[in-house]
Amino acid sequence: MNLIILSLLLLSSCNQKENTTSKEDVFVEDLLSKMTLEEKIGQLNQRTSRWEMTGPAPKNNDSQDQLEEIKQGKVGSMLNVTGADATREAQKLAVENSRLGIPMIFGYDVIHGYKTMFPIPLGDASSWDPEIVKLSAQVAAKEASAAGLQWTFAPMMDVGRDARWGRVMEGCGEDPYLASVLSVARVKGFQGENLSENNTIAACAKHFAGYAFSESGRDYNTVDIGTYTLHNIVLPPFKAVAEAGVSTFMNSFNIINGTPSTANPYLQRELLKGQWNFEGFVVSDWASIVEISTHGAAEDLKEAALLAIKAGSDMDMESNAYINHLAELAEEGNVDEKLIDDAVLRILKIKYKLGLFEDPYKYSNKEREKELIYSKENRDASRTVAKRSMVLLKNEKQLLPLSKQIKSIAVIGPLAADKDIPLGSWRAKAVKNSAVSLLEGIQATVSPKTIINYSKGCNLTLGDRGFRTKLSYEENDKSGFSDAIKAAQKSEVVIMAIGEDCWQSGEARSQTDIRLKGLQLDLFNAIKKVNKNIIVVLMNGRPLAIPELAKDADAILETWFAGSEAGNAIADVLFGDYNPSGKLTISFPRNVGQCPIYYNHMNTGRPSAGGNVFWSHYTDSPNTPLYPFGYGLSYTDFEYGELTCSKTTITKNESIEVNLSLTNSGKYEGEEIIQLYIQDPKAKYARPVKELKRFKKVNLQSGESKNISFTLKAKDFGYYSPEGEFLIESGEYYIYVGGNSQEVQQISFSIIG
Ligand code: BGC
Repeated sequence: MNLIILSLLLLSSCNQKENTTSKEDVFVEDLLSKMTLEEKIGQLNQRTSRWEMTGPAPKNNDSQDQLEEIKQGKVGSMLNVTGADATREAQKLAVENSRLGIPMIFGYDVIHGYKTMFPIPLGDASSWDPEIVKLSAQVAAKEASAAGLQWTFAPMMDVGRDARWGRVMEGCGEDPYLASVLSVARVKGFQGENLSENNTIAACAKHFAGYAFSESGRDYNTVDIGTYTLHNIVLPPFKAVAEAGVSTFMNSFNIINGTPSTANPYLQRELLKGQWNFEGFVVSDWASIVEISTHGAAEDLKEAALLAIKAGSDMDMESNAYINHLAELAEEGNVDEKLIDDAVLRILKIKYKLGLFEDPYKYSNKEREKELIYSKENRDASRTVAKRSMVLLKNEKQLLPLSKQIKSIAVIGPLAADKDIPLGSWRAKAVKNSAVSLLEGIQATVSPKTIINYSKGCNLTLGDRGFRTKLSYEENDKSGFSDAIKAAQKSEVVIMAIGEDCWQSGEARSQTDIRLKGLQLDLFNAIKKVNKNIIVVLMNGRPLAIPELAKDADAILETWFAGSEAGNAIADVLFGDYNPSGKLTISFPRNVGQCPIYYNHMNTGRPSAGGNVFWSHYTDSPNTPLYPFGYGLSYTDFEYGELTCSKTTITKNESIEVNLSLTNSGKYEGEEIIQLYIQDPKAKYARPVKELKRFKKVNLQSGESKNISFTLKAKDFGYYSPEGEFLIESGEYYIYVGGNSQEVQQISFSIIG
């Protein structure tokens, strides 16, 4: 039957039943009632494109088979098909050929931009600004939707504590509260107010759950966490986005208590779809149903399919488990068809919400694609987000901001003129080498009279770079050093761009050594000998162990991988057009041996042997990080007034107000991120030494003061037991407020009753 007639028929039947059930429910249930078991299973099947869907029909057999599958209604969703033409062409195959003409949903990893790249998520999270994070997602959604996509596999909300794990770049850092607030903002940015608008896309909360806890930071490695950590650290951001209406979830590759997440009924059925009342659908991670068996938790793919569907994995990404085995499992009576129906309904509902039944081609619009993608407006937005993502780690001698009239600057380092690395490794459709380099940004900012002495100094990597490549680093060739030294000698200041290649972090990009690779430190030391004003511009996707820079650089600006407008945004900060306000959302270790290191750790049983001497210590390193969570400087100074509490005791139904004044006592207008932490020093189950519960970003003119107030309910002091029960305990609590997790004022109060 023709889709339009089908839709009209179904919609008219919805209208009749309008009073009792939602239109959407009636529509999808009617549709379901018309589907064969095979068609239902087709909706659960997601395939990556076996061909570049931009040109004529594919030639090889594999691709031909896929075309046929789509025409027969055996593919409910595709990933990695992009572009208005390609998605339209693929959609036509499903809509015009399959019996019921059900449109496919097209998903893609739009992680920090589609073609206009924004800072990596760890970067924009450093803004601690939900509006900024939302803006980044909004623009990405605009571009992606114009290219025919309706669904992104983002945001990733895995709380990441281990800098060795390459995917820390993709999350919000080490704190579950901050990750909750910012992930909700990201979801709102992607999904907008109304999913059926053609400039919004469905978001996907991933990876559910525990993936970031892979042992020793090695991607895909075993995860072994207790349920206390699961409930208090891993799950809160997922719960927050479920409550905020995220459309989909993606499960994770890892095991939890011996059961792969993909086969985990507790996580997906009991918590997510049960207690949290999530109505969207769950997609497996890439072939993670296959991995149930490779983990050793299923005999074969058929049993893996059985476990996955029972556990609540609705859509199978690339395992071919459902398409090959579900019908047989249902016919044998091992899988109740109601489970399949539930999964299909969930998927159809999201398609309905996206408006795909009204117009399956509404996202594939050539004009919108041309007009919206990589527009000036989007690149301006990227620059706005990028400058707010940067974190000033050091500014000794107040070297920054620089004057635009400066006579001479040396711009040095393997990343200084690079136009590719700032794009990051989850770069969707970014054009290679399309970022504004730091050198270009500086050239565009300084006075025409300023002399810029550029010298690369050395290469960072050698040979091929890319997702599947093992990188090799330049360890020997110092032939560029002398030129760089000359550039430094004849310049007032040196701006030195070093850090990581973007392919050092991201998926499958774990590292055992997080120091500066190759010759970068040698180059820094050589330059330091001839110029005493070195500003280091770091580009990287994870915390780096940089004690030498912390000691010897005069200024350090952390810029992450800042996206398409990187160079312009960095110049905005270096030359004072924007006063940096970002703060770290992940601790920077002194050395890799400290990993995982995070501020919200537990007390040991042996905290202190007097003063700063700890029983639990390393014999070769302090316990503290190099730069703590929440840390970041400004060009101005902020003075924190005395902390006061509205009450000394509250009951479990009451709130408490925390007040203080903040003064900008420096020379520049600036923004400060005020952070409020709590501690429950004596609880039924041991609790962290600090837990972030509130933060505020405040803009102050030079000399200006503001009264700052935070309201906390008794439940903000609660936590989960290892069994997942939410507890609010009576007793004394500490509240800490400050500009980072280490430098805080303390006050206490009690919860009674
Ligand atoms: C990643 C997911 C991603 C998926 C699709 C997997 O390898 O873990 O985060 O969304 O691939 O590209």
